[in-house]
Amino acid sequence: MNGANVERIQRQLEQLAEFTATPGEGTTRMSYSPQGQLAREYIKSQMLEAGLSVREDAIGNIFGKSAAQDPELPSVMVGSHFDSVPNGGAFDGPAGVVMGLEVAKLFQEQRLLPRYPLEVVALVEEEGSSFGRGLLASSAIVGKVDAAELHRLCDSQGRSAAHCMAEVGFDADRVASVVRPASTIKAFIELHIEQGPVLEQASLDVGIVDVIVGITQLVVTITGKAGHAGTTPMNRRQDALVAACQVIAQVGEFARQAGEETVATTGKLQVFPNGANVIPSKVIFTVDIRSKDWHKLQQVVEQTKACIHQQSGAGIHCHIEQPLLVAPTQLDPEIHQLLAKHGEALGLKQRTMVSGAGHDAMMFAGQTAVGLVFVPSRDGLSHHPDEWTDYAQIQKGIEVIFQTVKEITEASNYDE
Ligand SMILES: [Zn+2]
Repeated sequence: MNGANVERIQRQLEQLAEFTATPGEGTTRMSYSPQGQLAREYIKSQMLEAGLSVREDAIGNIFGKSAAQDPELPSVMVGSHFDSVPNGGAFDGPAGVVMGLEVAKLFQEQRLLPRYPLEVVALVEEEGSSFGRGLLASSAIVGKVDAAELHRLCDSQGRSAAHCMAEVGFDADRVASVVRPASTIKAFIELHIEQGPVLEQASLDVGIVDVIVGITQLVVTITGKAGHAGTTPMNRRQDALVAACQVIAQVGEFARQAGEETVATTGKLQVFPNGANVIPSKVIFTVDIRSKDWHKLQQVVEQTKACIHQQSGAGIHCHIEQPLLVAPTQLDPEIHQLLAKHGEALGLKQRTMVSGAGHDAMMFAGQTAVGLVFVPSRDGLSHHPDEWTDYAQIQKGIEVIFQTVKEITEASNYDE
């Protein structure tokens, strides 16, 4: 059997990498930008070349559907997103889109006719870089986005998502038509770069994800009182930053105690008035907490909130908002088993793993059976121009998915 074609994989990824607004400084490809449109045309051309019939939905997701023994049956979907963060890498998203294209090409080359249609999908707006709304397209497909939201969400220049869509021929007011009823999808399988160091450190080929972590974000405001850094005695201070630091130093400890790969991070901190000789009067900071275990996640959130409230008193006031809370997502055990079985048959070094980042697969998981395969990231690096995965590694990830999809679609060779 001839497997996935590494030259073709490389050519497609290199071609997609050229559609960037920042040549020489990584991939910058917003969904409805000129570069996004060039990538769109290229992906459509590759879908056609793989013998798929191509369709775009009202917000610009691209679908390439194969012929099938029974075209009325639900599709087995494969793919990922083709937008990027600003100055990101060439693999986050495109690796999964190219996986979809290659699986379709292998069906064509090996003269396979699936019973369930194969559907390659290339999604817009996963990163949230344009409108601050991650997983926008996959959320729309599962019915979690309405037209009002698309009119409300704006980019940094004040243009609404609906406006940007209209400029390139899409129609936010028809977003309801984007919804794919569960009855039309048999399974969704995504390939994604790991974006962390685990696979590379253990010299593994693929990671088969069983859980996508639950995520919450707290936005904490601590208010004290400004004062002169030289003339205010230490015992008369209401220093908001000192109070914030007590919390920030603790949250990592709560996560460590919880175990189960629970993590907690303060990544954003604003100090007011932010002067070298002024006692800080106000601090706003974030706490991002993730865990595959729902109870551990809630436990760390409660500990963090209690720690914040302990800072209150003696002129210090605390306020907590929680704009984001998503429970851990279990992926489909049967697909996991199939992926593991085929990985083993291919002689791959593999492990089961947790995804610490959100992916489109997460949205589909409420709707259909979902699988997610990770391939190694060099130095664990992502969202960076130096993001890299060897093409031969991507090839291995694609082969596991190809074999699995062949089985799930119940494909048979039409020469036999
Ligand atoms: Zn991604």
